[in-house]
Amino acid sequence: MKNVFLMGLSVAASFAFAAPALTQDSGVNPAELKQIMAQHPDWAVWLADPALAKLTLDGPKMPNSNWRADDIRRPQPPFVETGKACAAPPPGDADILFDGHDLSKWTGDHFGEWSVKDGILTTGAHIYNFLHTKDSYGDAQIHVEFREPAQPHPPVNPQYHGNSGVFPMGLYEVQILDGTNNQTYPDGMVGSIYSQNPPLVNAGRPPGIWQCYDIVFRSPHFSGSTVTQPARMTVMLNGVLVQDNTVLIGATVHAKVATYTPHAAELPLALQDHGNPDSHVSFRNIWIRRLSPG
Ligand code: MG
Repeated sequence: MKNVFLMGLSVAASFAFAAPALTQDSGVNPAELKQIMAQHPDWAVWLADPALAKLTLDGPKMPNSNWRADDIRRPQPPFVETGKACAAPPPGDADILFDGHDLSKWTGDHFGEWSVKDGILTTGAHIYNFLHTKDSYGDAQIHVEFREPAQPHPPVNPQYHGNSGVFPMGLYEVQILDGTNNQTYPDGMVGSIYSQNPPLVNAGRPPGIWQCYDIVFRSPHFSGSTVTQPARMTVMLNGVLVQDNTVLIGATVHAKVATYTPHAAELPLALQDHGNPDSHVSFRNIWIRRLSPG
């Protein structure tokens, strides 16, 4: 299955501070822009680029929200310390998708970009691509352990630092990103439903420490071309609730308002390789349990 998502920022930016002469493009007045840059030092260098400023300050208005998509002005969720522990062994009725040995349960258009070494699965970080499970799933409980890479030097665009994602049905992204010293727009940070809903709190751990997602995914229902029951997700990050039965507005897109396109009742789970050099994300212990429709 081809994915056509364009998540992440595709515009190159330099670290040289440029005069913020972008107002007619971004719709933000200079005084407000100066204030935003002061409030978000991690983003100041990127906001100096008119294209990136427009992306994160002048995106489309989100439905039922006071914010725009990918809006850096949105309040940052508070940080919660979560220690270093991860999960217990998989439950007996789980499909084990990766236990450190091989990728026999997975496929993908650029399968060979991913590697397995010493029990750990790692993104290629060369091109934007996805791993898909060979089996398809609808409603499911999903467990994924991941590890963020160290911050590249010099620091990269925050959306390029350890960006991956868990995609139930290959369509609905729970974001993976470094959540420490890497401030980004809240609906694009770790624990977010990408470009839709920020996490309740920032429960991210530093690079090099294993982290765990536990996701309950409820698939959307359709009648003809109409969605009759939207997708919902409850997400625990490192044992902390970050999404509480969140209703999704559609399949993940970037810099747009998501919508639904009818699809099958079951589809493969996917993992994202965002394709950023020197920013490999690692995985271990991935399993999924089928749930009765809810
Ligand atoms: Mg991602």
